[in-house]
Amino acid sequence: MLDPAPVNRLFAADALLPTGWARNVLLAWNPEGQLTAVTPDSVRPEGVPEVDGPVMPGLPNLHSHAFQRAFAGLTEFRSEQADSFWSWRTQMYHFARRLKPEQLEAIATWLYIEMLEAGYTAVCEFHYVHHDPDGRPYADDATLSLCLLRAARTAGIGLTLLPVLYQTAGFGGTPPADGQRRFIRGTDNMLRLLERLKPLCDAQGARLGLAPHSLRAVPPDALREALAGLHALDATAPVHIHIAEQTAEVDACLAWSGQRPVEWLLNHAPVDERWCLVHATHLSTQEIARAAASGAVAGICPSTEANLGDGFFDMPAWQSAGGRWGLGSDSHATVNAAEELMLLEYSQRLQTRQRNVLATAPQRHTATAMTLAAVAGGAQASGRAVAGLAVGQQADWVVLDARHLALAGLGAADRLSAHVFASHRTSAVQTVWVAGRPRVTAGRHGQHEAAAQAFVAARSQLLNEATE
Ligand SMILES: [Zn+2]
Repeated sequence: MLDPAPVNRLFAADALLPTGWARNVLLAWNPEGQLTAVTPDSVRPEGVPEVDGPVMPGLPNLHSHAFQRAFAGLTEFRSEQADSFWSWRTQMYHFARRLKPEQLEAIATWLYIEMLEAGYTAVCEFHYVHHDPDGRPYADDATLSLCLLRAARTAGIGLTLLPVLYQTAGFGGTPPADGQRRFIRGTDNMLRLLERLKPLCDAQGARLGLAPHSLRAVPPDALREALAGLHALDATAPVHIHIAEQTAEVDACLAWSGQRPVEWLLNHAPVDERWCLVHATHLSTQEIARAAASGAVAGICPSTEANLGDGFFDMPAWQSAGGRWGLGSDSHATVNAAEELMLLEYSQRLQTRQRNVLATAPQRHTATAMTLAAVAGGAQASGRAVAGLAVGQQADWVVLDARHLALAGLGAADRLSAHVFASHRTSAVQTVWVAGRPRVTAGRHGQHEAAAQAFVAARSQLLNEATE
C-alpha cells in the first residue's frame, strides 16, 4: 500500500491569529513548511483533519544557555550570607569548566525536546562555551556550536545560533578570569567562526547571529569591529546582548563611562530592529523611551530573573513607550512557556498592585495579549519567519488539550487563560507542530525517553566529576 499523502492542511474550530481568536480556521502549508493559507470562517473540506483543541502559535524562546539546564536546581541552597547573581555565577563557572562536547549535545537535545513539549517551537541559543576545559580551541574550532546545531536538528526545533563574543572580565578591559577561559575569542577569530557556521546554519533552516556577551565583556573597539564583520556576512543578522541585568553592572558602567549600560549602547552602537536587549532590567525613564523607539526587542526571562534576584522589568512603561518584547528561559530553572507568561504578569501585579497589567485594548484577555506580543517579539529576535499563524510564516503551532480538566468546556480565550494561569503545573500542551510536521503528540516528543536518559547520564557524569 502506498503511504498516505502527507498532511498539508488542518482545520481548527478555534485558532489564535495575529489579530486575535478566530473561528473555523483552515490552515494550509507547502512542502517547505511555510503557511500558504490561513482562512477563518471556513467550512472544513472533506478529508481535511480537524484538530480537537484550540490552536495557538508556538512561542519562540529568545534566550537560552543550553548547558545550564543540567545545573538547574543545584544552586538552591545558601552559599554566602547574601547569595546573589554573582555567587551563582561562580558556581555556574565551576560547572561549565568540566563540560564535554558529548555532554553538551545530550543536555541540549533533551532541553530542546523539553521546550517543544512545553510549547516553544524555536530557540535562540546564546552560546558562550567555545573551547576545551583548558581554554584551548578544539581541533575543530566549531565543535561545540556543531553540537548545538545537531541537538536542534535531532529535536526538530527552530534555531537561531548566537555565538558569543567574550573578551574581558569587566569594564575598561579587565583581563578575563580563569573561570572564563573557555569563553574567550578574539574578534577575527569570532568572524572566522561565523563564516564557518553560516552555510551550516543555512542548510538546516537555522539563523546565525552574534551575541556580544555584555558591555563588561566586550570592549568598544571589539564591539564595533565584530558588528562590522557580521554586517558584511549578513546585514540583517540578529544581534543579542546581555544588558543592565544587575544594579552592580549599572554602577560599574557609570563609573567607567559616566553612562548607564543601555544609554552607552544607544550612544555607541547602531541599535535597531535586529537587536535583542536581554534582561534590560534596570532602565531609566529616558533609556526606556530611547530603547523602545529603536525597535529593539526586550528579551525578558521571568523565571531566571526571579531565580537570580535580578529585579523587575518595568513592563507598563515599556509597553506604553511602544516597546517590543519576548520571552526567554535563559538558565532553564523553568522550561515552560505558559509559566513564563504567568510569572511575568504576576511580577507586574505585585509591583503595581493591579490585575491584568499586560492586557491591551484590542486583547483584553491577558494570556492572549501576552502570547501575541511574545510571539511577535520572539520572532523578530529570532530573525526567522516564526511570527504566528499568518501566510508566509513557518507552520509552527501548539494544539491545547481541550479535555484537560482546567480547560474543559471553556471558550477559546478562557482556555488559554486557564492554560497560563490555572493549569497547576500540569501542561495542557497536546500537539506541537514545527514547519508543518508534528514533533510532539499526546504531550510527548518521539524521542523523549532516550533523550531523557542521555541527559540524566550526562548530568550524573558532570556531578560525579565534581566530587572526585
Ligand atoms: Zn543569559
